[in-house]
Amino acid sequence: MDKRIGFIGAGQMAEALARGFIAKGVCRAEHVFATDVVQARKDVFRSFNTNPVDTNVEVVKSADVIFIAVKPQYVSVVLQEVRAHLEDRHTIVSIAAGITLQSLKAAAGDNVRLVRVMPNTPCLVGETAAAMCLGGKADDSDAELVRRLFDAVGKIYRVDEKLLSAVTGLSGSGPAYIFLMIEALADGGVRAGLPRDISQQLAAQTVLGSAKMVLDTGKHPGALKDMVTSPAGTTIAGVHELEKAGTRAAFINAVYAATQRADELA
Ligand code: NAD
Repeated sequence: MDKRIGFIGAGQMAEALARGFIAKGVCRAEHVFATDVVQARKDVFRSFNTNPVDTNVEVVKSADVIFIAVKPQYVSVVLQEVRAHLEDRHTIVSIAAGITLQSLKAAAGDNVRLVRVMPNTPCLVGETAAAMCLGGKADDSDAELVRRLFDAVGKIYRVDEKLLSAVTGLSGSGPAYIFLMIEALADGGVRAGLPRDISQQLAAQTVLGSAKMVLDTGKHPGALKDMVTSPAGTTIAGVHELEKAGTRAAFINAVYAATQRADELA
């Protein structure tokens, strides 16, 4: 990609994105520019051969795609700071949780290509599940650009902004549900006599492998479940306990409750 990539805010997410883009070859390290109010964060970016710069305006002058990767409460401030320097070549990509396209537009101006992305924490290990929506002057070319970038760090889907709360409830908050599930599975293994470390590894690898089977085969998860439940076998005995405990309803309720909370906070 010949685009230059800038980061306003060089924290955890910015680092994960930049490293992912470079590792997967979607951009070269010398085409990445980043700034932060904390010098140590700029030093981190220098350590993998990208260009730390001193001001947010310098990022905008140096790059075409500008990631807004500060905490949500600072988004308006940094956009207002750089707004006079925004041009048609710029695509602004905000990853800040809960900051709407309307408030991005209010801070950045009407004539800006805006993309709002909701990533999740596994971005830090190159496996994010993200969604994006477009605002301002952004068009399909901006969506394609952002898709190419996020393909390097996971998967991204385009949705209407009104569905971003549901994305927050599912994939945004989802890692916590799965961490809880892995912990509980590991506890089950320990209850059944496994050493803690082996039990946790088995639990995590089981989640990883099962997710990979769903993605790689494209089969309905119910069909994959049926394939491993033999008549009167061990697995159906376990599944029966999960059904008695209302596990499905608990997951549905969790996603729905988190979605409603995201709506309340928006
Ligand atoms: P972080 O605290 O690691 O990074 C933010 C960085 O912005 C910090 O290094 C901070 O020094 C810098 N900063 C603050 N004010 C600044 C300013 N005026 N100019 C330049 N830099 C400034 O946070 P993070 O976890 O990387 O999150 C960044 C954004 O990503 C947040 O808006 C968050 O909502 C969003 N997000 C994070 C996750 C996640 O899993 N961490 C998931 C989804 C969305």
